[in-house]
Amino acid sequence: MIRLAHVQLVIADISGYTDFIVNRSVGLLHAEQIVSELLEAIAANSRHPLTLNKFEGDAALLYAESGDDPATAAADVLAQLGAMFDAFAATRGAIAAQRTGCNCDACTNIHSLRLKAFMHCGEIAIKHLHGFVELAGEEVILLHRLLKNDVREREYVMLTAAACALWPAAAGEGRAGSAECEGIGRVPVRVLASDRLPRAAV
Ligand SMILES: [Zn+2]
Repeated sequence: MIRLAHVQLVIADISGYTDFIVNRSVGLLHAEQIVSELLEAIAANSRHPLTLNKFEGDAALLYAESGDDPATAAADVLAQLGAMFDAFAATRGAIAAQRTGCNCDACTNIHSLRLKAFMHCGEIAIKHLHGFVELAGEEVILLHRLLKNDVREREYVMLTAAACALWPAAAGEGRAGSAECEGIGRVPVRVLASDRLPRAAV
């Protein structure tokens, strides 16, 4: 079954390990355990209509159908993103406390892990294939292309203009810029610190 839907698209991406985890088995295993726990914490803090679609390496892809009221849907997704950053920080601290006994590269550098979130909105195709839900279309590709950018902050939220249009207060938050998306061109975005996300519970 394939249908079109207007959605909010989110990628929550954990970074910080790729620079120094060398190919040693203990470090690799522990790095994957730590990142998995953090991804679980992120997923546990998403609730309907925001839905985990799949994990992609050190990232989670989520989406929410906009329904009749895209602005309310976007506000809900933004608030959930805020909760994910809080859960990420709390879980990172808890994992670090549990792993003080291990001196591998992964366990001694948990504090260097960071979370980045990317949000875009638009019409996509939702495909049900062999028990899997596949999100398809240019908007999905655009969202993934945003991850390759030249933003220097290590932790931030990047919203496309389409996402900002649904959140009027965005104009007063963070800074405006653009991201070069391979094959698509420059896309206007807004980059803000995670503590600037609306925390209003819905
Ligand atoms: Zn370890």
